Amino acid sequence: MLYRRLRYSSCGVFLLVLSILPFTEVSGQNGQPYVVRETVSDCVNVRTRPSASADSVVCIPAGTQVTVLESVPYWRRLPSVGSQQRWMAKKFLVPIIPPAPLTSTAMPADAWLEVHFVDVGQGDGIWIHTHDDGIDGNGRFEGRNIVIDGGPYSSDRTNPFLPYLEDRAHHGAIIDALIVTHAHTDHYRGAETLSRHFTIQDYYDPGFPSTASGYQAFLTSLRGTDTDPARAQNIHLGQGNFGNLDWGSELTAEVLYTWPGNNTGLGSGNTLVNNTSIVMRLEYGNHSFLFMGDGEGKDRNDSPATARYVEQILITTVSATQLDVTVLKIGHHGSETSSTLPFIQAVDPEIVVVQSGRKSFNGTFIPDATTLQRYCDHNAAIRIYRTDQNDEVDGLSAAESPDGDHIVIRTNGTTLQVEAFEGGQPFTVNSCQSS
Ligand SMILES: [Zn+2]
Repeated sequence: MLYRRLRYSSCGVFLLVLSILPFTEVSGQNGQPYVVRETVSDCVNVRTRPSASADSVVCIPAGTQVTVLESVPYWRRLPSVGSQQRWMAKKFLVPIIPPAPLTSTAMPADAWLEVHFVDVGQGDGIWIHTHDDGIDGNGRFEGRNIVIDGGPYSSDRTNPFLPYLEDRAHHGAIIDALIVTHAHTDHYRGAETLSRHFTIQDYYDPGFPSTASGYQAFLTSLRGTDTDPARAQNIHLGQGNFGNLDWGSELTAEVLYTWPGNNTGLGSGNTLVNNTSIVMRLEYGNHSFLFMGDGEGKDRNDSPATARYVEQILITTVSATQLDVTVLKIGHHGSETSSTLPFIQAVDPEIVVVQSGRKSFNGTFIPDATTLQRYCDHNAAIRIYRTDQNDEVDGLSAAESPDGDHIVIRTNGTTLQVEAFEGGQPFTVNSCQSS
């Protein structure tokens, strides 16, 4: 399917180009030998597209050697037969040749980092995919999959994040890192869904001792019980247990903040839980991302002139150059309790992403218009992208608002592209005014 993609370069020039869905990153390798994993019980299906729903043309037994031509998220391409492409799930393939030592730190122009802000309704759901150069094991361009939160819906039927990933992945595919920013239902419920369908390598959350029964049940399922196997290989609760976040040497990933182990100065009730959020920064080439979770900067009726809570902690503990990022995933769905003026000044983003849905909080919908206006007042050139794009205009309810307003951002370290959708169709945001 052809469609229009909005390209956004780091110097602010917009270009409209034609492209093809799904986005495929053509890796540099050519004809790498792999073998079908010996532990596969029977055989592995070879499909005509990189999708679990594509037709299977043959099933290849364990131990068979194959040639890999390129890699995309969750799939590797084998040589075509005639005009028919052949794809195999990445999880079932093992490289034969030991990885060559790294000789260069150059960033190939096709080495795209993808960040997908999935429209999960009123909540957060982010999938990050690092470039896969098809050379496994050398710690660089390893095709890692990182998920931050899963949205509010726990059932397979209602959670839009599940089909979003399943369309691109295969059964049992690996999520290298699942991060639940804090113990609120609009962040962990959908993560629970994903944990039932994918292999979770490492799970991270703030370690805040929430007694919410749903959250406790989620943790139990990750750990496993006498009757159910563990859903996560490693569980890291609290920053002291996070270790280094190593998703490839080409990417710098840091937790800038999470619950410090006491509640002093973090508010109470829901405010406190929001202010336990894991705040993460990614840097890739010339571009950087700040993921705020639901970290807040003030109480609703406070002036935005003064920062408190997580925003104030970041301002005082993180260097100015670290806090100044290209892309900001706005805190707390763009609520008036986020985005104080000192924080906006410090972060100075080029792009703001709002993850929200059309849910009424005692008559208030978020993001608040006042919050977004503060970004536009700071810099009218800021682009604001929303996963609740036009949900109000369209008259959607909370349950209807996950309607395909996805935001996909890609960078190869020098060029940044934003691909936005509204109701599943390509959508262009040109200015603060149109957001
Ligand atoms: Zn939330």
